[in-house]
Amino acid sequence: MNDFLRISDALSAATDRLRQTSESPRLDAELLLARALDVQRSYLFAHPEEEMDSGGVERFSSSVERRVDGMPMAYITGEKEFWSMTLIVTPATLVPRPETEVLVEQALMHIPRRAEMQVLDLGTGSGAVALAIARERPACEIVATDISEGALFVARENARQTMVPNVEFLLGNWIEPVADRKFDMVVSNPPYVASSDPHLDKLQHEPQLALAAGSDGLDAIRQIATDAVGIMNPDGKILFEHGESQADAIAAILEAAGWSDISNTKDLAGLPRVTTASSKQ
Ligand code: GLN
Repeated sequence: MNDFLRISDALSAATDRLRQTSESPRLDAELLLARALDVQRSYLFAHPEEEMDSGGVERFSSSVERRVDGMPMAYITGEKEFWSMTLIVTPATLVPRPETEVLVEQALMHIPRRAEMQVLDLGTGSGAVALAIARERPACEIVATDISEGALFVARENARQTMVPNVEFLLGNWIEPVADRKFDMVVSNPPYVASSDPHLDKLQHEPQLALAAGSDGLDAIRQIATDAVGIMNPDGKILFEHGESQADAIAAILEAAGWSDISNTKDLAGLPRVTTASSKQ
């Protein structure tokens, strides 16, 4: 990869190299090259013949190799768009996924615009869900917990950068840090992949703690569904993101734990992705 110098050649070589790991090799190559040269992507199209200096070649080549090794673009660039916010992401946090915006949309549907509700986000990671809800509903108070100090560090930094003031971040296991408080809504994108799921191999660069949850992937959801019952205000809502084949199992878990009005929402791909339920009066 070090034997090219022109922008156009660098791009084609990297695109070929990235084909084995990426579904968007050309786009990835362009984004990585723009970053290595510290230019806008459009600069690459305007100056295909320009020769790169050795520093640029070096930076580009090492980022392409990381991508070839399966590292998500977001970890290489250090950021990811979510809900029109540019969030910092590091390997301490899951990379926010587009389908998680469905969780945010559903949560917002249950929070009137000027409502002053208490909302709890469990396993906040980069803070994506908490910050999106907080930004859309500035009168609400959001508490976001995570067991990972590394993730909370990133989440707090994201709150600072996006200038969202109404989120409080607390370290701890699920509801543990807020066990004596009451909430109108609990949202969570918990780990939900079965520990034997081969899909986990493709996600090797992301924190397994944020992905895998026991033999059926439902350990975290089982625990939250049970523990959250005791911290709800009357007619509170709980919303989970989950895997596409887990909706029925989660409905059964919620019902057994005493939740009612259980419903499911599909993601953009038409797959059951978010389950909502209400606490009893
Ligand atoms: N949707 C993610 C994936 O399968 C999993 C996220 C999660 O476990 N919360 O890629």
